[in-house]
Amino acid sequence: AKLDGRNTFRFFTPEMQAQSVRALQVENALRRALERGQLYLHYQPQIHLATGQVHSVEALLRWDHPQMGNISPTEFIPIAEDSGQILQIGEWVLRTALTQLKDWHANGFPGLTMAVNLSAIQFRQPQLPELVSRILTIFELPPDCLELELTEGVAVDDPHSAVETMDSLHSRGVRMSMDDFGTGYSSLSQLKRFQIFKLKIDQSFVRDLGEDGNDRAIVSAIIRMAQALGMRTTAEGVETPEQLAFLREQGCDEAQGYLFSRPLPADELELFLRQYLPS
Ligand code: C2E
Ligand code: CA
Ligand code: CA
Ligand code: CA
Repeated sequence: AKLDGRNTFRFFTPEMQAQSVRALQVENALRRALERGQLYLHYQPQIHLATGQVHSVEALLRWDHPQMGNISPTEFIPIAEDSGQILQIGEWVLRTALTQLKDWHANGFPGLTMAVNLSAIQFRQPQLPELVSRILTIFELPPDCLELELTEGVAVDDPHSAVETMDSLHSRGVRMSMDDFGTGYSSLSQLKRFQIFKLKIDQSFVRDLGEDGNDRAIVSAIIRMAQALGMRTTAEGVETPEQLAFLREQGCDEAQGYLFSRPLPADELELFLRQYLPS
């Protein structure tokens, strides 16, 4: 019998091939993005529900490429993780976000906290806690004005070292949030050993709070569990007054989402803050 070579030996479908070509293009363009000033940050406020004030803002990475246009972090962060570029980019994000925070501290918002997303690759660098402390010292910022947003993935391969790294960051006074909570695999026995300040309830549970009784049960269970463990809660992706009402009623501490504000350039976020904080 004759083998149909086309169908038997083809490793890549045309779509897979197009995807890997795009990934290579993105990786190459990303190499120059930093030095060419194509990366920048937007900031999204987290609203403290009891007071309506903004205690912290989250820095979110943006990339405008002259030919490829605006590229989403959900596309380029995984590529930067595979290529190792995430280390350089991640440090740039940390320094840029803290430079902005320093400015806001000096210009009317002294108590503000900055939340910065950290890739699991960055988190696993043995020198991460020292690096973070060193940057905070250079900026003369108190460590508790930084919140590092981690995902449950940081503990998958090696929970023991993850706990050590969190202990080290915690002893240096840096706060940590567990991002996208509920979508990963962390067990409750693990979670209680983590020095986590905040659980960020993933937006997939928040989206259908209006219609879905299961999501309401999950969100209320996450909030009660966090309270029992002495952790705060922030709901992500809050878009409607109905979602907000439910979260408030359940005792969620903070909410973040388009209902309040999209992620904004620094100057626009500053205008937003002036309405929310006594200046
Ligand atoms: P994330 O950390 O979970 O960030 C929340 C995402 O939800 C952001 O998408 C934000 O723009 C979006 N969002 C906020 N409010 C709403 C809402 O009300 N409705 C909806 N539908 N979406 C909302 P974005 O900015 O595209 O970022 C996507 C992901 O990329 C982030 O998810 C984070 O995992 C990653 N990312 C962004 N910046 C960085 C960074 O500096 N470093 C690392 N390692 N990852 C980053
Ligand atoms: Ca300013
Ligand atoms: Ca985040
Ligand atoms: Ca998230």
